[in-house]
Amino acid sequence: MTSIANPDYKYYKILEGTWRDEKGLCEAILNSGAGIEMRYASGRLASSYGVLETMQLMLNQGSGGMMFGTPYTFHDGEELRITLNDRIVYEGDKTIYRVSEAWYGNEELHLEIMDLYDGHKENIVLTRVKEEEVPLAEGEYQCSCGYRGTARRFCPNCGKEIT
Ligand SMILES: [Zn+2]
Repeated sequence: MTSIANPDYKYYKILEGTWRDEKGLCEAILNSGAGIEMRYASGRLASSYGVLETMQLMLNQGSGGMMFGTPYTFHDGEELRITLNDRIVYEGDKTIYRVSEAWYGNEELHLEIMDLYDGHKENIVLTRVKEEEVPLAEGEYQCSCGYRGTARRFCPNCGKEIT
């Protein structure tokens, strides 16, 4: 596969990872390939997404530009604006929520989720889930290349000598 230079790739790298809210009600997994999978209560969403730099949007709007014909409201601390291509959260084949806004700032992911039943909106703040450090078992080796497992003198993955 040939790699395609994507100028937005750096934004996707910032957002890549697993995000969760305090109550454990919502979890979102974003990958660097512009894909998002989200769970909210009993609902599920899977979509592709786009990212725009908020600063750039502000400049555009300042000079009279508008997004999709409507002025865009900026949030305090917003750094990146996330646009989901499919905003609907499904429970089975029922549509139950709609992600009305998504943005990132100060290492937090913010989602505004609208309940399609009564129209009320919830603001969800997600923080990055850090991978838990599992202590090495006896005889197990962790290499700088990412390999983890048994090894004797050399890493079986990258061949680095184990000291
Ligand atoms: Zn290695």
